[in-house]
Amino acid sequence: MPQFKRVVLKLSGEALAAADGFGVDADRARPLVNEIAQVAGLGVELGIVVGGGNFFRGLRASATGLRRISVDYMGMLGTVMNSLALADFLKDEGLDAQVMSATEMQPFAERFTPRGALAYMRAGKVVLFAGGTGSPFFSTDSAAALRAAEIGADLVAKATKVDGVYDRDPIRFPEAKRYDKISYLEVLSGRLAVMDTAAIALCQENNLPIVVFDMNAPGNMKRVALGEKVGTLIS
Ligand code: UDP
Repeated sequence: MPQFKRVVLKLSGEALAAADGFGVDADRARPLVNEIAQVAGLGVELGIVVGGGNFFRGLRASATGLRRISVDYMGMLGTVMNSLALADFLKDEGLDAQVMSATEMQPFAERFTPRGALAYMRAGKVVLFAGGTGSPFFSTDSAAALRAAEIGADLVAKATKVDGVYDRDPIRFPEAKRYDKISYLEVLSGRLAVMDTAAIALCQENNLPIVVFDMNAPGNMKRVALGEKVGTLIS
């Protein structure tokens, strides 16, 4: 039995990307799609926010001479492309998937409403929340926290390349300490680079636990949904 009934999964856009980190690649995304299918197979109501960093990322792209707002819009459009791709990958895996966008985007995607999303989830569809929050100056981490609050999710599952939250960058500092559990406040005050502050604050205000876990370890996503000790729990 899954411990969590309704989960919002946050994936970085890079999770779908080709080897050079750009665009989408079905073969490279397949192991991840398989992990998602295992979670859906538990009967968990699943919503997914995919980032857009494999197409465009605001802060880095502002060096190109474009306006911050324009690059943020481009980043959000990237998340729509990723969501359309992931919906197809999920359908190829035998799942039913529905893209819902933060903004009007006919005919590419339906507009997100909490009620509409819940109806799809209850009908067994995986819902892909595209277009971020619809506002610049946010990230897709914040979009995941926002959508989770709106649909009354039990958990935000943040898939990453590392196996949890550390007191410093574990790649640069091999002696870094990993937390099994940590509070929202400790994440915020320690400026631990795990999710942006807006996302953490929104989860804190809504009592929404976050599990940060390694998406490359097979079976991990299912273990998170089952409530097993995986990664770091922020609560
Ligand atoms: N973005 C935004 N508002 C949002 C979500 C995303 O402006 O609500 C833009 C922002 O420029 C961000 C980009 O979209 O850098 C891609 O999202 P993110 O960096 O979160 O993607 P990821 O790193 O997870 O692939």
